[in-house]
Amino acid sequence: MKILIQKFGGTSVSTHEKRLNVVQKIANAKKLGYYPVVVVSAMGRKGQPYSTDTLLSLITEDFKDKNLLAVDLLMSCGEVISCIVMSNELNNQNIASVPLTGGQAGIITDDNYSNASVISTECDNIIRILKEDKVPIVAGFQGISEKGFITTLGRGGSDVTAALLGAALKAEEIEIYTDVDGIMTADPRIVSNASLIKEISYNEVFQFADQGAKVIHPRAVEIAMRANIPLVIKNTMNNCNGTIINSAGDQNSDNVITGITHMSDRVQITVEHDLNKNNSYYYELFDILAKNLISIDLINVFPKEKIFTIDKKDFNKFNKIINNLKINYSKVDSCSKIAIIGSRMRGIPGVMAKILKTLTKEGIEVLQTADSHTTIWCLVEDKNTQKSINALHREFCLSK
Ligand code: ADP
Ligand code: ASP
Ligand code: MG
Repeated sequence: MKILIQKFGGTSVSTHEKRLNVVQKIANAKKLGYYPVVVVSAMGRKGQPYSTDTLLSLITEDFKDKNLLAVDLLMSCGEVISCIVMSNELNNQNIASVPLTGGQAGIITDDNYSNASVISTECDNIIRILKEDKVPIVAGFQGISEKGFITTLGRGGSDVTAALLGAALKAEEIEIYTDVDGIMTADPRIVSNASLIKEISYNEVFQFADQGAKVIHPRAVEIAMRANIPLVIKNTMNNCNGTIINSAGDQNSDNVITGITHMSDRVQITVEHDLNKNNSYYYELFDILAKNLISIDLINVFPKEKIFTIDKKDFNKFNKIINNLKINYSKVDSCSKIAIIGSRMRGIPGVMAKILKTLTKEGIEVLQTADSHTTIWCLVEDKNTQKSINALHREFCLSK
């Protein structure tokens, strides 16, 4: 049985017209002799009636904080509605299908609500449905805990559902359908002439996804890589070949940089030794933050100061803890961590110099940098994000 996973994102299933394209993709797969297993996201984006964000706006923040189980139950409704509506569309075109919740599809998780980890994927129901020559339509982004409660897998988690099912069913391929032609050298909403990356390695795309490119969930990349199943990102609305993600990537490219992405809403924190030298908590700062589950990055430790960034959503918690401990600090609000990614930059001199020269020429202040073998990060103020990414994209000739 040649199984193909086809995952359709929120915008792909948001209107009847778009869903007809989805039906076409499923019918084509069947024509080619595949047994498609379909995964869907909640319909539409923020503001549209059944999207995850719209559902979340129905309840108050203090209720959310105290009722984690209820929040997951609410969020799961978007994907459940979506899989039933999609099943109806297929039925109208004489394609038999069965809508399934994540739990019915065998996604068993722990009970870490809103970001549950998957314990096992038990595909008996799906296999039974495939043997009846019907198409399983699985509600993405959700599972069921061992105690029987509905859980969700983290925002953007329908990609994770697709990868999990791909690995468990030993699928030939995992297709992720979305509203862009594939993975681009930068978010096309930021760089209008970003170009399509035709082939990319799991490792590089993981960097992209992990550093803020929303187009695919990093955990989905990891799962597909471990199972060695090719992932393909395609546009629901056309027949472009999309981006193929596999272990080799593009062996022929000679550009040291593959693409640029960013994470906004970072706050840069500086804690100076001289202002805190009589405070013993200064020396335990990182430990205190870890114990309070505040994650930090771009960490630079110098004899006279510690500099790092935190997510804006953690700032109030951070501020409360640090003020209680009477630690003095300064901050730069609203920063953006730009990631310049390329596995071929390893050992090539001058990449960082070129980045800094480009940003300086544009009058953009670089607040902090960090680098690894495959990525260089620059922290800039949020207001400079678009300008920085466009300048770097131009300088590294990423538009074709
Ligand atoms: P879906 O609902 O289909 O899962 P997402 O919104 O999660 O869609 O992901 C698709 C979006 O990712 C695109 O609309 C695009 O703006 C954004 N994106 C960010 N970075 C990139 C990139 N490098 N290449 C392509 N799309 C990107
Ligand atoms: N609907 C969920 C979200 O908006 C999951 C997904 O779209 O993948 O995060
Ligand atoms: Mg997505």
